[in-house]
Amino acid sequence: MKQNETLWNTLPNHADLGELNIDDWGDDHLFSAYNTPLREDAFELSDVEKVAKIEGHFRAIMETLGLDLTDDSLNGTPHRVAKMYVKELFSGLNPANKPKATLFENKYKYNEMLVEKDISFYSNCEHHFVPIFGKAHVAYISSGKVIGLSKLNRIVQYFAKRPQVQERLTVQIAKELQQILQTEDVAIVMDAKHLCVASRGVQDDSSSTVTAFYGGKFQEDSTKSEFLKYLS
Ligand SMILES: [Zn+2]
Repeated sequence: MKQNETLWNTLPNHADLGELNIDDWGDDHLFSAYNTPLREDAFELSDVEKVAKIEGHFRAIMETLGLDLTDDSLNGTPHRVAKMYVKELFSGLNPANKPKATLFENKYKYNEMLVEKDISFYSNCEHHFVPIFGKAHVAYISSGKVIGLSKLNRIVQYFAKRPQVQERLTVQIAKELQQILQTEDVAIVMDAKHLCVASRGVQDDSSSTVTAFYGGKFQEDSTKSEFLKYLS
């Protein structure tokens, strides 16, 4: 983790955006760093304690909205939402849930590009806490090690299960794969819908957002266009 943090901190950030007000910041989906901003005490509470605490907070939100929580249909919602946050939607905040990646020797000496495309992912916008969902396309060129294909999906899911902005999600997946696969030669394209754009704000339900990361050989035009050709 530490090694990643040092690497990521050398990447450009939006430090000069500090003067924007919070509405502009959120609706323009700006973000401040490639690391998920976590508090030092992020994991001092157990999951059970977090669920209990969030349940109370969410109950207060619903009551403030004027909802009657003695209604049978609403009664269990605070607990359901709390459990869903901790155990599902935001389970990727906890490094203990990071998928263990087993590497295999590249026995077949397959030195070409490997592309895993159309990986479905579901995330949540960190500015509005509504869904971001779409497809991720991941590629790498083996440096002598290969990874199980399902692990590529799991790594995408792990980083998606955090409050996110799509740019950070893309870079976090790429950096993790570079570290696991011991190569710079990793590329990712993510194409996603943001419900905070589709269902509120500008209410544009036809646009999607594409982000990309090209590391190592993928920065060369021929390798990049080979990858993009597989996606079309
Ligand atoms: Zn948003």
